[in-house]
Amino acid sequence: MTRAAFLDRDGTLNRDVDFVRRVADLEVLPGVPAALGRLDAAGYRPVVLTNQSGIARGLFDEGELARIHAALHERLRRLPLAYLHCPHHPDGGHGYGGACTCRKPAPGLLHEARQLLGVTFAGSVLIGDSARDLLPARGLPITTIHVRSGKPFADERDKLRAAGFVPDHEADDLAAAVDWLLARG
Ligand SMILES: [Mg+2]
Ligand SMILES: [Zn+2]
Repeated sequence: MTRAAFLDRDGTLNRDVDFVRRVADLEVLPGVPAALGRLDAAGYRPVVLTNQSGIARGLFDEGELARIHAALHERLRRLPLAYLHCPHHPDGGHGYGGACTCRKPAPGLLHEARQLLGVTFAGSVLIGDSARDLLPARGLPITTIHVRSGKPFADERDKLRAAGFVPDHEADDLAAAVDWLLARG
């Protein structure tokens, strides 16, 4: 069975700007490519799971997102197995409005990854900078790590506590998260 490192994108792999609307907005955070290499070498196949409601909001389209992910893939040394996204927003439109089962904190993208890629939940890890990124793992046998490299950490921790969710670990950034994960064995 293949285990995964389910990775949030904005605030975890690249700097969390308001919306990454084009390739020029993409800034990979320091140490991220090397950290992905260590995950992959340890048997955690990187899979990117990301909310991209900018599509429903009409800020960019699927074609632009594909270009952004192609550029990101090169900068991440082509390590991720896949990039799965939710284009929807309850208040959005452009053909993507309304409720869906894939927008995090719903677990839809995790289930999609399992079905499409054949990865398991047990033994896998989910790493993200916001409560919304971590809550999809609720009730699933996935190790969770909250990183400080994105949204204001204390605010996100408060949201997690309010939801009754305690991540397995907190780390400064992806590299520190991987240090902890691999040291734990
Ligand atoms: Mg995030
Ligand atoms: Zn969705």
